[in-house]
Amino acid sequence: MEQPRELLSAQEIAKRVASLATEIDQQYVSSRELVLVGVLKGSFIFLSDLARALTVPHRIEFIAVSSYGDKESDEAGRVKLVMDVRHDIANADVLIVEDIVDTGHTLLYLTRLFEARGPRSLRTCTLLHKPARKRVENGLDYVGFEIPDVWVVGYGLDFAERHRTLPNICSIPPQ
Ligand code: 5GP
Repeated sequence: MEQPRELLSAQEIAKRVASLATEIDQQYVSSRELVLVGVLKGSFIFLSDLARALTVPHRIEFIAVSSYGDKESDEAGRVKLVMDVRHDIANADVLIVEDIVDTGHTLLYLTRLFEARGPRSLRTCTLLHKPARKRVENGLDYVGFEIPDVWVVGYGLDFAERHRTLPNICSIPPQ
């Protein structure tokens, strides 16, 4: 099997995460209740770095989704919630934190789900975005990097549970 090839170095990621945190700090400077909602599993490393770089007070929740097909949301865009947040997010400023937006189906599902719960505000943050694969429109509020249409691993992202803990983000050839 070919080795993963570096797309983004650990230094590039750290720099971008710090600048995203600065933007988020400014946006939520007067928030009374900021809740970061991390989408498992892929976002766990990004979320932990981002959260530690924030200076505004916030709490952390996790949700987990799975597709009805395999790894990605399937062609019909069906997504299933397999773990929900523990606490009510009504009247909170909610920021959904994703690892990667590919077709956009997962994020669309999540924004609809959370909108229906009456947050004070709802925004989205993704470390990676593949614009070439976009199928549905999502108003993304914070995007770390736009990347080409390749399968990426590392920094929380996996291929069949492998490569998740690489410090950098790499592409792997189609399997
Ligand atoms: P969607 O197509 O709904 O925007 O993305 C669904 C999910 O597919 C993402 O949250 C992510 O878990 C997974 N995914 C999409 N592209 C990649 C990729 O390049 N690498 C990895 N590891 N996961 C991806």
